[in-house]
Amino acid sequence: MIQVKNVTKRYGNFYAVRNINFEVKDGEIVGFLGRNGAGKSTTMNMITGFIEPTEGEIIINGYDIDQKPKKVKSQIGYMPEGTPLYSDLTVKEFINYMAELKLVPRKNRKEAVKNAIEETGLEKVQNNLTKSLSRGYKQRVSMAGAIVGNPKILILDEPTVGLDPKQVIEIRELIKSFRKNHTVLISSHILSEISQICEKVIIIDKGEIVAVDTPENLETKTADNTTLNIIVDDINNKFTSIKDEIPEITDIKLVKENDDNSKEYTIETNTSDDIRKLIFSNCAKNNITILEMKKSESSLESAFIKLVENRKEYSQKEINKMQYEKEIEELREEEKFNKEEKEKKKIAKKEAKARKKVAKEAKAEAKKNKKAEKNNDQKEGGNK
Ligand code: ADP
Repeated sequence: MIQVKNVTKRYGNFYAVRNINFEVKDGEIVGFLGRNGAGKSTTMNMITGFIEPTEGEIIINGYDIDQKPKKVKSQIGYMPEGTPLYSDLTVKEFINYMAELKLVPRKNRKEAVKNAIEETGLEKVQNNLTKSLSRGYKQRVSMAGAIVGNPKILILDEPTVGLDPKQVIEIRELIKSFRKNHTVLISSHILSEISQICEKVIIIDKGEIVAVDTPENLETKTADNTTLNIIVDDINNKFTSIKDEIPEITDIKLVKENDDNSKEYTIETNTSDDIRKLIFSNCAKNNITILEMKKSESSLESAFIKLVENRKEYSQKEINKMQYEKEIEELREEEKFNKEEKEKKKIAKKEAKARKKVAKEAKAEAKKNKKAEKNNDQKEGGNK
């Protein structure tokens, strides 16, 4: 399980990621989706321990990466973007080298390399130099390097970038097959990829998490229920006039005219109620033939655009202001702490002085009592 808690990464005044929170549960395949520069690689590099967060905690299978970095790293297989391989090594040598780097014990290494080769379908090319392989196979080798030693968690950064469609399908199937034994976090800016492989999606934008949900829920939650798409055969050009007869319609826009003279329109309504029956009867009355009518399609793509585009943009001025306010707050905290410490020291000093005084008085009292006792003894001796 991956737990990312209140994590921020700052470069100077710039927030690469800001206070992000999410979890990837055991056995889940989760997509990490965002435009270029959104903060995906930064987050992945923090999860894999390559860079440290400025603030916050990252817990991998119960271990804090800050406190148990070796333990955590041994449980993670990381496939960075762009298949960085050592081209003068054979496939087998490269995977063996990765196993060494990941501290797979020597006695298990041969078996681990063999398993990784089998799992990624590299048996036939295992003795070839990595530089002689196609892009798709190179990607498999990189994947084998990530899974060798059977880490519980796999972090895959843009795993299908640069592959041809056939290779994309093959790599996708391979990733799906990891579901049985691994927890997988895949970053991508390709929506279709995420919706085809992942059961959960985390959307990040400008360093902030904007949604965590299943692709289906994201689609339905952001679905546009107020737009209809329609294709009509309308020789008398009367279609747009149905707007005057159906008050729920707020706008009708021509999208395009087809070669067969049919016309495609979008109809905007002020309600999410289904008004298709009303449109149907009005068209029949006006001799307009409906060839096709459907609600605007919801897709992960439209959900993504809505989630990302509806966000408030922070200007650099606002970011500076937030940063400034945070620094002031930290200074105030420090000042408060110093004041409290000073106060504590003052009290401790007073207490010590008081204790000294009491001890001195007690000593003087004891001396006095002793003297009085001595005098008494002498008096009693004299009286005898
Ligand atoms: P993504 O992987 O989603 O494309 P990144 O995580 O690579 O995005 O980058 C997020 C933002 O942080 C970008 O604006 C990038 O320019 C910035 N960034 C990343 N690394 C550094 C760095 N070392 N110094 C300064 N800015 C950085």
